[in-house]
Amino acid sequence: MAKPAIPGATPVVAEKLKALGLTTQADLVLHLPLRFEDETRITPIAAAQPGMTAQFEVTVVAAEILERPRRQLVCRVEDATGQLVLRFLHFYPSQLKLLQAGRRLRVFGEVRGGFWGSELIHPRLKVIHGDEPLPTALTPVYPTTAGLSQASLRRLIQRALEEADLSETLPAPLLKRWQLEDFATSVRSLHAPPPGLDAAALAAWQRPFWRRIAFDELLAQQLSLRQAYAARRARTAPVLAGDGRLTAALLARLPFRLTEAQARVWREIERDLAQPHPMQRLLQGDVGSGKTVVAALAMVRAVEAGYQAALMAPTEILAEQHYQKLSAWLAPLGLELAWLSGSQKKKEKQAIAAKVGAGESALVVGTHALIEERVVFARLGLAIVDEQHRFGVRQRLALKQKGQEVHQLAMSATPIPRTLAMSYYADLDVSVIDALPPGRTPVLTKLVASARRAEVIERVRALCAAGRQAYWVCPLVEESEALQLKAAEETFAHLSAELPELRIGLVHGRLKPEEKAATMAAFQRNEIQLLVATTVIEVGVDVPNASLMVIEHAERFGLAQLHQLRGRVGRGAAESACILLYEPPLSENARQRLKIIYEHHDGFEIARQDLHLRGPGEFVGARQSGLPLLRFADLEDEALLAAARAAAEEMLAQWPEHAARHLARWLAQRAELIRA
Ligand code: ADP
Ligand code: MG
Repeated sequence: MAKPAIPGATPVVAEKLKALGLTTQADLVLHLPLRFEDETRITPIAAAQPGMTAQFEVTVVAAEILERPRRQLVCRVEDATGQLVLRFLHFYPSQLKLLQAGRRLRVFGEVRGGFWGSELIHPRLKVIHGDEPLPTALTPVYPTTAGLSQASLRRLIQRALEEADLSETLPAPLLKRWQLEDFATSVRSLHAPPPGLDAAALAAWQRPFWRRIAFDELLAQQLSLRQAYAARRARTAPVLAGDGRLTAALLARLPFRLTEAQARVWREIERDLAQPHPMQRLLQGDVGSGKTVVAALAMVRAVEAGYQAALMAPTEILAEQHYQKLSAWLAPLGLELAWLSGSQKKKEKQAIAAKVGAGESALVVGTHALIEERVVFARLGLAIVDEQHRFGVRQRLALKQKGQEVHQLAMSATPIPRTLAMSYYADLDVSVIDALPPGRTPVLTKLVASARRAEVIERVRALCAAGRQAYWVCPLVEESEALQLKAAEETFAHLSAELPELRIGLVHGRLKPEEKAATMAAFQRNEIQLLVATTVIEVGVDVPNASLMVIEHAERFGLAQLHQLRGRVGRGAAESACILLYEPPLSENARQRLKIIYEHHDGFEIARQDLHLRGPGEFVGARQSGLPLLRFADLEDEALLAAARAAAEEMLAQWPEHAARHLARWLAQRAELIRA
């Protein structure tokens, strides 16, 4: 690629532009104004009102530098209707010279009511000679950075609009079908709208042009992700097909039947695994929807085909649970699981890695020690990551295999709203388990002010006396792990004092893995009745007899976290409840979050509202993923997104040159970021 350059930019300016992400003229064309200033009109001084932003044409009466109350340059100016003060708190001595009595100026700024009448602080000013015509277009104000003036940015953008290639990248039939404005008109109009419109009229006038730009941006995203998708389909991976004997045996031995939704996603996965291309599928299903058994089927399928499969979970507790559960399901089929975690002794790890490397262990479950220990697999065919969001979105699996591509399945209980899945995840295939297994009772959610903590404690006492179990989630202290630990220990001490007859356990992130595992196992066996925990129990933990979840300082938790935590109960047949203890007064945002979690149980709906509250940036974890964020498009415009998606398919098939030009315009600098 040619070295990106912006004609007219000095090296210093080029550096500043780069900081704004602008390295080509095409980038400048797409650097759109934040707002406009109207310098097409002159306001008489007599009409100046505090708060208005306006331009005046004036003559300098006098200017001086005052030393008190602080050093400043003050200049009195007049027109035929009155006088005005210009005030500069930062200035160069040369400015005093500029403001000689009798000079004619155009000054632009916000009017303030001062002690001496109206004044402008740091107005923009321009000396005029003779009859200088007023500009006919509004003056754009661009996002900029320190040391890069609006004037130079405007000049460079103006030049880019004249010199850059603004040719249409959309084939005419598509423009027509979706009633889109053409590109050149759109960018020119957005940089230079006509004067004389008030804010509402201007917004209405610009709407079709913004729509076109938003469409283009979505289209570029779709094109690049679909290309990545196509590139993957061109690579080869082992065909994981089998005679179905083991999978059938697993299904036959399960204590339940798959739900329709589970059966459907298993068919989708089964079909992918039988292809000679690497699967890259996201399996979404709300907490408790039964993703684990689908993972087990896929792993068994790999074994049927003569390959190895690995399952990774983000926490030791969760990995351990998977290990237990999968062992119980698979041992009767004569399948053995290997277990690998960060906390194992080095020797132990080496022994397991050796068995995996020799192909003696076909199935491996573990934490990301699986990645970190650089385990080399003899014949890895399938890698599964559970609770994908905890690993950071689309972190590449670094599992080693000998030159082979593997099928990948990521499982997540944090549902991705539909529009997000259609945009940022367009390079993945997505399966959704959209129904819970039968017999679940919905969890009753209650919001309780912390002043009523004693009542909640009584409720825990009664519940445990009746043979049930409960979780008590400690206040979240994000700032410091030490403080978090302290909070957990204090909560534990307090509850132990209040509930002396109960067997109470404590788990937090600082415990040794074997201590954690022992506590969890005791809870599983009902030897511990009340489990005090930090968010380490957020994911995956499955103890059906636990039917009460208390979350302290619920207002500090994010929506996805609350939903995950609540999903730990309601797993058995018993009536379950989740008590959200909060500390009034609530911030507006906290109030909204608690309202959403109170009103909704469907993870997808909660995720949709979360997206609305937080925006997509945080949602996709854009920082880790390196995905460029959408600047212009709004994911809530689902119709436009669907149009861009359809257009991308069509262009890749029928108008590849158009597609290539479109990508070059939009993503030249970021292409490598997209190939996650
Ligand atoms: P998640 O999707 O949150 O990982 P799990 O796989 O842990 O959910 O399943 C939650 C619980 O539901 C487990 O105890 C599991 O054995 C059980 N389960 C899974 N599928 C079914 C089903 N079809 N019918 C009844 N129970 C099921
Ligand atoms: Mg799970």
